[in-house]
Amino acid sequence: MIIPPKNPKAENRKALEKRLGMHRNIARRDFLNGAALAIAGVSANNTFGTVGSNQPSLSTASAAPQDAEKYPPLRSGLRGQYPEAVQDFESLRSGKLTQLAAAGPDPGEDYDLVIVGGGISGLSAAHFYRSAMGAAQKILILDNHDDFGGHAKRNEFYHDGRTYVGFGGTWSIATPFPYSYTAKSLLKELGIEVERYSEFVNRDLEEKYTLGSAIFFDKEHFGEDRLVTGRGRTPWKTYFEKAPLGEAARRDLVRLHGKNPDYMPEMSVDEKRARLARMSYQQFLLDVAKMSPDALPVFLGNGGRNNKRVDTMPALEAAQHGAVGFNGLGLKLEENFNEGSFLFHFPDGNASIARLLVGKLIPGALPEKQSMNTIVQAPLDYARLDEASSAVRIRLSATVVRVQHQGEPEKAQTVLVAYRKGGATHVARGKHCILACYNGLIPALLPELPVRQKEALAYPVKVPMMYTNVLLRRWSAFQKLGVAVIDAPGMYHTECTLDPGTTLGNYRGVTTPEEPILLHLMRNPNKPGLPRKEQNRAGQQELLTMTFREFEFQIRSQLDRMLGPGGFNAADDILAITVNRWPLGYAYTYDTLSDPDLPPEQRPHVLGRQRFGQITIANADSGAAAFTNQAIDEAHRAVQELLVHEGLT
Ligand SMILES: Cc1cc2nc3c(=O)[nH]c(=O)nc-3n(C[C@H](O)[C@H](O)[C@H](O)COP(=O)(O)OP(=O)(O)OC[C@H]3O[C@@H](n4cnc5c(N)ncnc54)[C@H](O)[C@@H]3O)c2cc1C
Repeated sequence: MIIPPKNPKAENRKALEKRLGMHRNIARRDFLNGAALAIAGVSANNTFGTVGSNQPSLSTASAAPQDAEKYPPLRSGLRGQYPEAVQDFESLRSGKLTQLAAAGPDPGEDYDLVIVGGGISGLSAAHFYRSAMGAAQKILILDNHDDFGGHAKRNEFYHDGRTYVGFGGTWSIATPFPYSYTAKSLLKELGIEVERYSEFVNRDLEEKYTLGSAIFFDKEHFGEDRLVTGRGRTPWKTYFEKAPLGEAARRDLVRLHGKNPDYMPEMSVDEKRARLARMSYQQFLLDVAKMSPDALPVFLGNGGRNNKRVDTMPALEAAQHGAVGFNGLGLKLEENFNEGSFLFHFPDGNASIARLLVGKLIPGALPEKQSMNTIVQAPLDYARLDEASSAVRIRLSATVVRVQHQGEPEKAQTVLVAYRKGGATHVARGKHCILACYNGLIPALLPELPVRQKEALAYPVKVPMMYTNVLLRRWSAFQKLGVAVIDAPGMYHTECTLDPGTTLGNYRGVTTPEEPILLHLMRNPNKPGLPRKEQNRAGQQELLTMTFREFEFQIRSQLDRMLGPGGFNAADDILAITVNRWPLGYAYTYDTLSDPDLPPEQRPHVLGRQRFGQITIANADSGAAAFTNQAIDEAHRAVQELLVHEGLT
C-alpha cells in the first residue's frame, strides 16, 4: 500500500496561521448592502469581516458611540469597492440589465437633477447646480456603496473608549499643485485652509522617538529577510553595506543615489529628453546607467506616480519626480509636482471634504456650522441622507444600471435612471442627469451614445490600488527598530507607514508607543513585464478574486517578518484590519510610452466626456487625472454644460 506523503507545506502553513493569530475567532460582522447579516464566527472563505483579538475591543465589550449598522465608517474587514457594491457591474457590462429602464416600472420619483456617483465629483456637482439654480432644486444622488465619498472613504475604529480615524482612499489635498480658481474657491467655501497644515501635523512622534525610514529586503528576492533602517540618515555607502546585496548591486546603488555622471554625453538636452520619454525607467537604469540587474529588485515595489512601475514609468517622468540616476544629465526639469506640497490631510483624508459637502447639501445630516476644526469628530447622521422632505437626497447601496432619455436625446426634456437597490430595480426621472461615476461604465449605462464616444470612454483602464488600515495595540516594535516608514519592494504590501494621526480640533493624534495606532499599508497590484494597461487589468482581477482571509494572512505574515525582531506579535498586537480594495482606483493618466501623443482635443477623455442631450459627464476620469481638484473641476464643467445647453447662464 502506498501511503501518500504528508504535505509539509500545508502543515507549516497551519502552524504559521496559528502563531500569527489567524485562528482568533473574534466578534465580527458581515454586511450585505448595508444590513448586518451575522455576528460572531469567522468562516474560512468569507470575504468580509472585522478582525481583531478576542480580548474585549472593537464593537464588543465597550460599545462605540455609533453603531456600525447605522454608521458605515465603523464597518471593517473588506471595504473600498467591497463585493456587494460592485456585484451588479459585471452584468451591467455584459448588457444583461441594459433594457431595464425601458421595460421597467414608471418612475416613482421626479427630480431636477439625478447624479450617478456620490464621490467628490458627484457631491460637488450637486453643490454647483444648487449654487446656480437655487437651493430648492430637487437633486437625487445615487451611489452603489453603503457610504458616500467614492474614493474619499473614512475608516473608523473604536477601541477602549477611543475612536481612531483613518483614510481608506484619497487622503491629501495637494497644494500648491495648480488648483483651478473653481476648486480653490470650493475648498475655501468649505472652510478648509490648507496653508494651516503645520499647525496640525503630528511631527513630534518621529522626532521624539527618532523614527526613520527603512527598506525590508525579503528572502524570496534578496536571499534573506532583513530590515535595514537608517535610510536617508546614514551615507548611502554605509546604508547599502548593511543590505543583503552582492558587491556589484551595492556599488551601483551607491553611485545612483549619489552624484551621477552624464550617462548620455553625446546628446543635447532636448535629445536626452526625447529619448528618456520613450524608454522606461527600468531601461534607463539597466541600459543607460548600466546598473547591475541584481539591484533591480530594490526598485520593483516602487509605485511611481499614478502607479506607473519601474518597467512602465517613462524615464523622463521618473526624472521629473526626482528618481535617482538623473542628476548628471543636466536636464532642466520643470517642477511639475512639488513633493513637499503633498501634505495637507485630515485624519480621514479627503473624506472630510465629502462630509463637509454633505453638510452643505443636507444641513440636517451634520450639526450646524462645521469647520475644518470640527468636521473630523462631527457626528454624521446617515438616517438623514435620504429623506423625502429634503431637497437633496443621497441614496446609498443603489447601483445605476441604465440611463435613458425619454425621447430623442437632443429633444428630450427628461432622463430615466434605473438603479438596483435591495434586490429590486427602481426608476427615477430627472430633467437633467450628471454621470459622475466611473467613465468606463458609461457605454454600458448609455448604449445610445455615438460609437466614437463609447470607444473613447472604453480607452482608459483604471488603476487598481489597495489601502489597508491595521489598528495595532501598541507600536513599541517600531520604536525599538527606529522606523515609521518601511518600503518592502518584494512583499505583498510594498509600503507600510505608521499613521500618528493629525491633531485637529479635539481629535488628537497618538503620542506614546504603548498607545494603539493605525498602520497604513499600500499595494498597487500589477504584473511586471506586461504593458501598463494589461498590468492594471491583472491587478483588478487580483483584488476582485482574493478573499479577505488571504489578505489577512498576507498582512499578518508580512508584519511578523518585518517587525518580529522588534518584538512584534501579530496574534496579540493586531486589533483590527480594514482592507480597502480599489480595483477601479486612480483615473487613468496618459504616458509617453504606451499612449499616442494626440492633440489635447482629440484625447480619449475629452472625446468621451461630451454632453449627450440632457446628460453630462463628470468624475476625475473625464479629466484624465487622479486628483481632488480634477474631480471638482469636472463637476463644474458638467454642470456648466447642462446650463449652457438650456440657455440658463
Ligand atoms: C486609493 C486612492 C488614493 C487616492 N489618493 C488621492 C490623494 O491623496 N489626493 C488626491 O487628490 N486624489 C487621490 N486619489 C484620486 C481620487 O480618485 C480623486 O481625488 C477623487 O476623489 C475622485 O472623485 P470622483 O468623484 O471623480 O470619483 P470616485 O471617488 O470614484 O466617485 C465615483 C462614485 O461613483 C460611484 N459609481 C460608479 N458607478 C456607479 C453606478 N453604476 N451606480 C452608482 N454609483 C456608481 C462609485 O462607486 C463612486 O462612489 C486617490 C484615489 C485612490 C483610489
